[in-house]
Amino acid sequence: MIETGDFSFDNRLVSAQETEEDSGIERGLRPLTLGEYIGQDKVKENMAIYIEAAKRREKALDHVLLYGPPGLGKTTLSAIIAHEMGVNLRITTGPAIERPGDLAAILTNLSSGDVLFIDEIHRLNRSVEEILYPALEDHAIDIIVGKGPSARSLRVDLPEFTLVGATTRAGQLSAPLRDRFGIVQRLELYTTEQLTEIIRRSAQILEIPCTVDGARELARRSRGTPRIANRFLKRVRDFADVIGDGKITKEIAAKALDRLEVDEIGLDSNDRRMLNMMIKSYNGGPVGLETLAAALGEEAVTLEDVCEPYLMQLGFLSRTPRGRCATKLAYQHLGYSVQEDNEQLSLTGEFL
Ligand code: ADP
Repeated sequence: MIETGDFSFDNRLVSAQETEEDSGIERGLRPLTLGEYIGQDKVKENMAIYIEAAKRREKALDHVLLYGPPGLGKTTLSAIIAHEMGVNLRITTGPAIERPGDLAAILTNLSSGDVLFIDEIHRLNRSVEEILYPALEDHAIDIIVGKGPSARSLRVDLPEFTLVGATTRAGQLSAPLRDRFGIVQRLELYTTEQLTEIIRRSAQILEIPCTVDGARELARRSRGTPRIANRFLKRVRDFADVIGDGKITKEIAAKALDRLEVDEIGLDSNDRRMLNMMIKSYNGGPVGLETLAAALGEEAVTLEDVCEPYLMQLGFLSRTPRGRCATKLAYQHLGYSVQEDNEQLSLTGEFL
């Protein structure tokens, strides 16, 4: 990854990507049933029906595609699906399955009804994907035995199984793969109220004293993402121990996150730098994603998957056919005063 100065989207406190530290605490925090899974009501209601129907028919659940930004609960939901169906869960990721043989080994080891979770399924390589089609449709794979003129294709039957694919970018999935998922669900960013509930649940499990206002303060700054909320809880606990009496209150939460340079709506210095770059160097846009990424020394995919969903939810960024634009709200949040003429935002006065 290219870095410019101290600017890097990796290792950000507000990054939604999973870190090693996260996987340690997340293990104990993952809800196990649909009832414990907070928010995503539409997805939950639909999944409850599909699961119940599959159970009544004594059939494996149809293949499920979950998409949405990282950290929103796709892995968690796949584990819940397996738990509610009463079957085993096998977890892997698209890039980890390098050759068709790797996938064949995984598939032939599944038991009847099992859930196979493939994270980042958009990164499966084509030759692997082709093995997957007959597996999904006919519960069989074709294996080539031998080489040269004596090579022949051998069909191996598989047990019925459910593939749960997760991706941050449904648009990058090939059409034939996308069409093979009977259930497609999109996960949304969480509201502050839902994140408050998630933080209170995690605080209880981790035995961290936390007031409702304290939890809400963390939630407001968590960018709609449970993974970030849980990470904040853990970091802010240290501050509460050292600068307070161990309890996370609104004041402690605000002080700790201010110190960690996460502002009151969850933006960190990198977000501010991105918006400042758009405003000052590109007159607020439109600026192409690739141009912006190059100027920031970042990959376009990271900006698109990690930063944009939240900035768009805040109404700070808009996507137009000609590129990204910073909105009036973004100008105001960063302390610029703006004047609107011909729908074009222009800076008036100096940066405050
Ligand atoms: P993804 O697979 O989408 O990147 P994960 O399923 O790994 O996200 O979720 C990250 C963490 O957030 C999990 O450890 C889990 O504890 C928490 N989490 C996610 N969704 C929920 C939810 N709906 N309710 C409670 N906790 C959640």
